[in-house]
Amino acid sequence: AMLAYDLVGFQTRRDADNFRRFVIEELDATDLGDGRISIGGREVIVRAYPIGIDAEAFSKFGMTPDARRNISRLEKLLGGRQQIIGVDRIDYSKGLPERFRAFERLLEDYPENRGRVSLMQVAPPSRAELDAYIDIRRELDEMTGHVNGRFADLDWTPIRFLTKSFPRRALAGIYRASRVGLVTPLRDGMNLVAKEYIAAQRAEDPGVLVLSRFAGAAEGMKEAVIVNPHSAEEVAAGLQSAITMPLEERRDRWQIMFDRLCEEDAIAWSRAIMNDVASMKA
Ligand code: UDP
Repeated sequence: AMLAYDLVGFQTRRDADNFRRFVIEELDATDLGDGRISIGGREVIVRAYPIGIDAEAFSKFGMTPDARRNISRLEKLLGGRQQIIGVDRIDYSKGLPERFRAFERLLEDYPENRGRVSLMQVAPPSRAELDAYIDIRRELDEMTGHVNGRFADLDWTPIRFLTKSFPRRALAGIYRASRVGLVTPLRDGMNLVAKEYIAAQRAEDPGVLVLSRFAGAAEGMKEAVIVNPHSAEEVAAGLQSAITMPLEERRDRWQIMFDRLCEEDAIAWSRAIMNDVASMKA
């Protein structure tokens, strides 16, 4: 059915390559090179078009009154401590229980972070009526209670779990006030939160993105700290390297990713598709 279209676009090169290989090997399509195949007398383009964001606009969101209000509320609350931020719909593909376990592991393996680093997870409920989603939410509530009960102190709460949504402008402020962006889906086509986190940072003092190798975004964001979300030990080590990363290295990694986000933005994405559509024979 997908081959009924003239153009089939994927978020990653790997997915496009796999699909092309499948139709060539299993369905006897002919490889014409450059992402084009021929099947049943028709030509089909199969390529990766990784979706971009409006990076420049998003970076300005971080300076809007809405964002500033959130930054100052958070900075007051944090009192100089560092914050790790996660923003995901409640969904089994997002690896949230694995993430909470990895944060607990951070506090176990690197005890110097106790009292100093907290995790804020923004998680708007999605498909809230389905049993599977009710179960994840219950599991996350329990894990939050467990970790906070085990480690919290008078003036420090390790995990803040917010099951509500925020407008993007407010999120920009929350990203900006957070030293680490933690994006650890078990599987994700792209993941825009990873890109938005980078776009929202301060150029002079940017935070660090810790990113799952199973997010499509990882293909174009190799300067992030790339981790396997199934391994609590590896994610905890990635978090520790992000928390302790020297300013110069943070700036170098951020600058490369930010420049790429501005170049490969939403406009470039639509242009790439429309150019390919225009190049097709009628
Ligand atoms: N988002 C939002 N408010 C929230 C949480 C998320 O506006 O409280 C937005 C976020 O900025 C991002 C999108 O929802 O643009 C989530 O996209 P992503 O690709 O990360 O995940 P998806 O939900 O599409 O799997």
